[in-house]
Amino acid sequence: MKHNFGAGPGILPHEVFKQAAEAVLDFNGTGLSILEISHRSAEFEAVLDEAVKLVKELFEVPEGYSVLFLQGGASTQFALAPYNLLPEGGKAAYLDSGVWASKAIKEAKYFGETIVVATSKESNYTYIPKDFTIPADAAYFHITSNNTIYGTQLQEFFKSPIPMVCDMSSDIFSRKINVADFGLIYAGAQKNMGPAGVTLVIVKDSILGKTGRKIPAMFNYQTQIEGGSMYNTPPCFAILVSMLTLRWLKSKGGVEAIQKENEAKAKALYTEIDRNPLFKPVCVPEDRSHMNVCFVVENPEHEKPFLKYCEEKGIVGIKGHRSVGGFRASIYNALPITSVHVLIDAMQEFQEKNK
Ligand SMILES: *Cc1c(COP(=O)(O)O)cnc(C)c1O
Repeated sequence: MKHNFGAGPGILPHEVFKQAAEAVLDFNGTGLSILEISHRSAEFEAVLDEAVKLVKELFEVPEGYSVLFLQGGASTQFALAPYNLLPEGGKAAYLDSGVWASKAIKEAKYFGETIVVATSKESNYTYIPKDFTIPADAAYFHITSNNTIYGTQLQEFFKSPIPMVCDMSSDIFSRKINVADFGLIYAGAQKNMGPAGVTLVIVKDSILGKTGRKIPAMFNYQTQIEGGSMYNTPPCFAILVSMLTLRWLKSKGGVEAIQKENEAKAKALYTEIDRNPLFKPVCVPEDRSHMNVCFVVENPEHEKPFLKYCEEKGIVGIKGHRSVGGFRASIYNALPITSVHVLIDAMQEFQEKNK
């Protein structure tokens, strides 16, 4: 048995893998594979409808918001957010809390003036800046809720005088949020919600259509809303697997229940990192992520042997991102707490062996 701490594409519930495999062979007793049925068939439309309904239910999405399942990953949203929200000659505000945020900033610059309200680049993003003012005359304020590479996460969202746009790729559905606080939420599915190939977008309808830009159909949120995420052929399989994962989440008690589990997993792991003299955390305590736990070894000579020790225990995917080094244990929704305890045991045994 493997304990998958990979950062993304990440772990999904085992029962979802089984259901997805079954649907590839015979989807819902149709005698057809999910890979060959029409996206306009009643069977697939039911999948998409249920996926949208589950998103609305699990996040208590208020009236006036649309839920979309699009292609192109979160990286496409880096461009589509300004394309759809930033008027010609207008400006947008960004918080630079990591590489994903800085990539979003780079894309926004194609569309207009981009103000970076604060950055923690000087510390290699070991904290999230909080001391800044959001310019009230910008079209929107863009943030990243969880910085996957560095293991920092906003524990409390900002109060913004302008629509807040949030990249939630790596902590979507991991905790309760108030959707009404946001103008636009987007997330590549493959970290915490489903497989690669689909991106969730939740957008407040009233912020659209104000840019004066002509936007090609596929890049225009309004076309996608009108088409019900089916302006063209949607990623049917990825949407099915996301829907099954959301169903699983609902059956577990929803976002509130998973949040408690995620907090317990994170607490157990950070407690061990703080206790074990061989390891130390990467980020400031107040911004510690409950999804990606980054840590390094005190003695660089321990790095490779610890990785190897983990491999022998079936612990996979904990090598840190190349820009941070050390280790990153991603403890997404589907990772059971028992796997976290296997990692903690490995850390303790490794300490014993290296006394
Ligand atoms: C992984 C990730 C991305 C990139 O997602 P793609 O779907 O590969 O484009 C963007 N933002 C965050 C926070 C991520 O974790």
